[in-house]
Amino acid sequence: MIPYGRQDIQQDDIDSVTEILKSEFLTQGPTVPFFEQAVAKRVNAKHSVAVNSATSALHISCMALGLKKGEIFWTVPNTFVASANCGLYCGAKVDFVDIDPDTLNISIHSLQQKLEKARVENCLPKIIIPVHFSGAPTAQDEIFRLSKEYGFNVIEDASHAIGATVGDEPVGSCRWSDITVFSFHPVKIITTGEGGVAVTNDSDVASKLRLYRNHGIIRDSEKQKQKGGWFYEQVDLGFNYRMTDLHAALGLSQIKRLKKYINTRNQLAERYKEMLSGLPVKLPIHPDGVESSWHLYVIQLNEAHRRREVYDYLRSEGVGINVHYVPVHLQPYYQKMGFKQGDFPVAEDYYKRAITLPLFPTMTLADQDKIITALRGALK
Ligand SMILES: *Cc1c(COP(=O)(O)O)cnc(C)c1O
Repeated sequence: MIPYGRQDIQQDDIDSVTEILKSEFLTQGPTVPFFEQAVAKRVNAKHSVAVNSATSALHISCMALGLKKGEIFWTVPNTFVASANCGLYCGAKVDFVDIDPDTLNISIHSLQQKLEKARVENCLPKIIIPVHFSGAPTAQDEIFRLSKEYGFNVIEDASHAIGATVGDEPVGSCRWSDITVFSFHPVKIITTGEGGVAVTNDSDVASKLRLYRNHGIIRDSEKQKQKGGWFYEQVDLGFNYRMTDLHAALGLSQIKRLKKYINTRNQLAERYKEMLSGLPVKLPIHPDGVESSWHLYVIQLNEAHRRREVYDYLRSEGVGINVHYVPVHLQPYYQKMGFKQGDFPVAEDYYKRAITLPLFPTMTLADQDKIITALRGALK
């Protein structure tokens, strides 16, 4: 079965991790800061905090921005559940903003309307978490403008989007946001096994992220001089969300190939575009100036009612297509909160038509031909 996504592990990666296994530190050694610096440099951010998953990064990002019990945060329904769960961990209340039918990212029009309504009803969000779906950046500059007008913070969920750019601006520069989060799960652009990084340009926010990833413990060098080198204090309630040096070592060797991965993904996406033209499907649409990292290649069937049949057919032909995403608000857990079918019609209609075709850097042209032939067969 050709999977929809797969990691690429080379000898360099194996050597990099093996070196750590033979070294003094498996965790809390020097490799985690090296990886953090490599990510910060690549995305042009000042501070970088590595953790054990993007989910953890999203959670402590909400905490670092002070999200409290009963406060409100918004994200999109067309995402992985972690984008919404992160604020619930803080006891906050979630709501969603529908997506744009073309970009499949947060609809700026819907966002503006919802903000205006929330201002009148006095229930504005404290944080908004836009998602760069499939690796295609959202209109962060417009969200930033609205954040100034309505007074909310922004966490970019860039789990799909390391290596993507808007004009000259890499996703992660945080020019238009407080924090950006990346995931390094094996299906994503580069991997650490499990792992995530939060980047920010705000040094206070960075300190809080570090505090919450490590039990809420600080080690003050002045106090250590007074009381002894062992001395530490827990000043807040944090977690053990640390990344290990083994994971960081894998990330360090992977990030060296990021540019190459993005180029290959781009070429494969371009080839899909050429070879799928004329089929009864809607292909990805990106605004001018936006360079996707192409985490996912998502098409939409003109005939939604045939999706199940197309899915089953492709799977039976050895093509491991997938669907991203079941709208978060329709998950049973979220329906129990009162969300229901019809709440976010664009995301729901998109979901009924969506198919994710395989796309990963080691996919061969022969794999791609097989996928396209199978899809043509299914759509006959
Ligand atoms: C993968 C993903 C996450 C979670 O990433 P983990 O590193 O697996 O915790 C969060 N948001 C989105 C949009 C994702 O795709």
